[in-house]
Amino acid sequence: MAFCPRCGSLMVPQKVGGKTILKCRKCGFEKEATSGISVLREKKVIEHKPSEGIIVEQNLPRVLPTVRVECPRCGNKEAYWWTMQTRAADEPPTRFYRCTKCGYTWREYE
Ligand SMILES: [Zn+2]
Ligand SMILES: [Zn+2]
Repeated sequence: MAFCPRCGSLMVPQKVGGKTILKCRKCGFEKEATSGISVLREKKVIEHKPSEGIIVEQNLPRVLPTVRVECPRCGNKEAYWWTMQTRAADEPPTRFYRCTKCGYTWREYE
């Protein structure tokens, strides 16, 4: 069974020029039958979900805040800093520094 997409009436199969079409007897809408008098299937709309953003966790490189701290290697007075949980979870995370000039990385010892 197929229904007219225009008026909703029942469409009837008719042979026209060797191929079968479905014709609405009410409004005259015609549609080519895919195979014989089989039911016309509506196209399945495949919904593409918006691709979920892949969250890539990276420690470096990224835009890191800088702090005024002296590099123990070159004496530069500015370094990037970030924190990382290196010990037990109930302890405060360790702060790391990276010299903006020479790239030397060190950790803050408390
Ligand atoms: Zn119709
Ligand atoms: Zn340095």
